[in-house]
Amino acid sequence: MNEREIEVADYVSPSRLADFVINPYVGCPHACRYCYAADISRVKGRVEIWGDFLDVKRCRKSLGAKRLTGKSVFMSSVTDCYNPAEARYKITRRILEELAPIECRLSITTKSNLLLRDLDLLKARTSLFGRPKSLFDLGEDEDRAIRVSCSINTVDEGFRADMDRASTIEERMETLEVCREAGIPTLLFAAPLFPYISDFRAIVERSASFVDVFWFDKLNMRPTFKDDLLTYVRARYPEYYRAYLAIFERGDESYWRDLSEEISDFCDRKGVSYEVFF
Ligand code: SF4
Repeated sequence: MNEREIEVADYVSPSRLADFVINPYVGCPHACRYCYAADISRVKGRVEIWGDFLDVKRCRKSLGAKRLTGKSVFMSSVTDCYNPAEARYKITRRILEELAPIECRLSITTKSNLLLRDLDLLKARTSLFGRPKSLFDLGEDEDRAIRVSCSINTVDEGFRADMDRASTIEERMETLEVCREAGIPTLLFAAPLFPYISDFRAIVERSASFVDVFWFDKLNMRPTFKDDLLTYVRARYPEYYRAYLAIFERGDESYWRDLSEEISDFCDRKGVSYEVFF
C-alpha cells in the first residue's frame, strides 16, 4: 500500500450528490473491482492500481458550522471513510466530532464494520434536526440528522471476496442491524447488481427486519473495469457469459427492465420501502 499524508485546504466540497461531500481520503484500500472512483483518480493523474494507494487528508480549516447548518452532507463519494487505515488515522472520527453540534443532514455510506467504533457519535445525531433537500436526504425520516448506509450486492461471501477487500457481508449486515437497534435510520444500497449473480431477494429477506429503505442500482460497466469483470464472469460463471455479452457488449436493456419489475413486485409484496435507480 502506497500510503502518505497530504495537507488539503478544505475537507468539504459542494456536490451534485448532496449539498456537500466530505472525502477524508483519496483512494480506497477496499479495492472494489467495479469502483467508479478509480476513473476519477486516473483523471487526477494517479498511475498506481486502484486500491494500492491512499492519501490521508490533513486539514487545518474548520468544517464551518454556518455553511453546513440545514444542509445535506454525504460521506463519502470517492473513498470509503471507514477503510482500514481509518482505524489508525481516525480522520473520520475527528470529522464526526466536529460535526456533532452541527444541525446538518448527514448520510454515511460504507462497506466496513469499523463504522461501529463511532456508534456513540452517530447515535447522538439522532436528536439533531435539519432541512431535507436531496436524494441523500431521509424521506420519511426527514427529521433525523443521520442515516447509515451499507453497500451489499450479494449474500454470497465467495463472490464478495472476489470483488472487494472490505468487510464480509455478515459484518455489513450486523453493522446495519446494530445501527438500527441504536435508533439510527438505515439504508441498504444493493449495488451494483450483477446480472444473474446478485440475488436481490436473498438480500432483502436477510435484512428487511433492520433496514429502513432499500436502494437498487445496476452494474454500470465502465471501460476501466469492463475487461476484468467480463474475464472474471467467463472464468467463474461461464453459464452467464453469453448473457453478459448481450447486456454489456450489445446493449440489450431487456434484462434490466425485467429485473426492475421483479424487484418492484417483490418489494411491494414484502412491504419494504425501496427505490430502483434503473
Ligand atoms: S468501498 Fe467504495 S470507494 Fe472504496 S473501492 Fe469500493 S466502491 Fe470504491
